[in-house]
Amino acid sequence: MTLLEVAEAWERVAALAAPLPAEIVPLDAALGRVAAQDALSAVDLPPFDRSAMDGFAVRAADTSPPRGLVMAGELAAGDVASSALSPGSAIGITTGAALPEGADAVLRIEDAKVDGSRVTPVGPVAVGTSVRYRGEDVARGAVLAAAGSSLGVQHVTALASAGVGSVLVHRRPVVHILATGTELLELGAPPEPGRIHESNRLTIRLLAERAGAEVVMHPVVPDDAATTRAAVAAALDGDVLAVSGGVSVGPHDHVKPALEACGVREVFWRVRLKPGKPLWFGRVDATLVFGLPGNPLSTVACFLLFVGPALRRLQGEAAAAPPYVPARLTVPARPADGRTTLLTARLVHGEDGVLEATPTEGQGSHLTGALAASDGFVAIPHAAGELPAGARVQALLL
Ligand code: AMP
Ligand code: MG
Repeated sequence: MTLLEVAEAWERVAALAAPLPAEIVPLDAALGRVAAQDALSAVDLPPFDRSAMDGFAVRAADTSPPRGLVMAGELAAGDVASSALSPGSAIGITTGAALPEGADAVLRIEDAKVDGSRVTPVGPVAVGTSVRYRGEDVARGAVLAAAGSSLGVQHVTALASAGVGSVLVHRRPVVHILATGTELLELGAPPEPGRIHESNRLTIRLLAERAGAEVVMHPVVPDDAATTRAAVAAALDGDVLAVSGGVSVGPHDHVKPALEACGVREVFWRVRLKPGKPLWFGRVDATLVFGLPGNPLSTVACFLLFVGPALRRLQGEAAAAPPYVPARLTVPARPADGRTTLLTARLVHGEDGVLEATPTEGQGSHLTGALAASDGFVAIPHAAGELPAGARVQALLL
């Protein structure tokens, strides 16, 4: 049986996960979205010359040598001076207030002696002291978030300061989620003989939402050919369909024929990966379809390696890829039966800041208890043989 390498499988997914069209969103809904064009400052920042301190707007020349200045009013943040500062006078000013015409420095309150309506600097004040000049931070039209960047709090903060109320970003993908399996019970349902509680739809939904997608949930589909076909047909109008279960070779695995009957063309089936070997990927029109193996850990692994990064690509993150982070094994580990193996592992920062990966005692694609005791997976490449304690590896954090 030929199994596709994990990296090659990701390349095939990435090749089809092109950015979705752009839309305008209000800035307060833009966190995590990807800019579809450069986002520019609408104003100069600061927008006008303003005071950096509480004190007095002065003419620097009037302070050298220091002499008594006549107090000629007061400006608070938000005020606009009605007249220019005349020579020999000072205007009280608060932090952030616009400098009046004629002033070229701010005398800090701590550096002044105030006596009734006279202000005397304790020493000379140089031109520009405690002044924030128009445009010194950001010029109008400057790029604050380049096209293709994922908007973080830093970008949103800067854009808000720069007078920007909305941004052009790539559309979020709509992900339809359905699960197959006659044995599956709904969340929290009373136990029934021979049946198990369904978890994959919830897992996929949480991970998809975390990756920025909008989710449409579908009911559980029993293992019946016609029902599966109808359910798939009703779930193909989004950007992505994620189907859980039924992609193996058992007599009750109806998902692949159902996808074929709905015109979904296979791109690949089966990856050199444990858990996750039966992963199926295909496309119909603009919809990408992932057939995820039903074991809960297979679903998580395939999501982290393929579905999640594809969702980021669809949102315009051109470099999105499986989110591996460097780690170090604390104990020896080996790949299982010739496949790149994801082991559930504790992942804790060591003293040097590198993640230390300790695989959980139990390993198996059905072991949700081991999953709960982990922080994610450590990847052991299929060609690695046994890796010693201390070996550098890649990890996937949940
Ligand atoms: P399948 O991929 O359909 O052959 O399922 C593989 C294993 O995963 C079987 O033991 C199923 O009972 C289990 N399974 C399938 N779907 C789910 C699901 N949505 N939630 C939890 N376990 C599942
Ligand atoms: Mg099944």
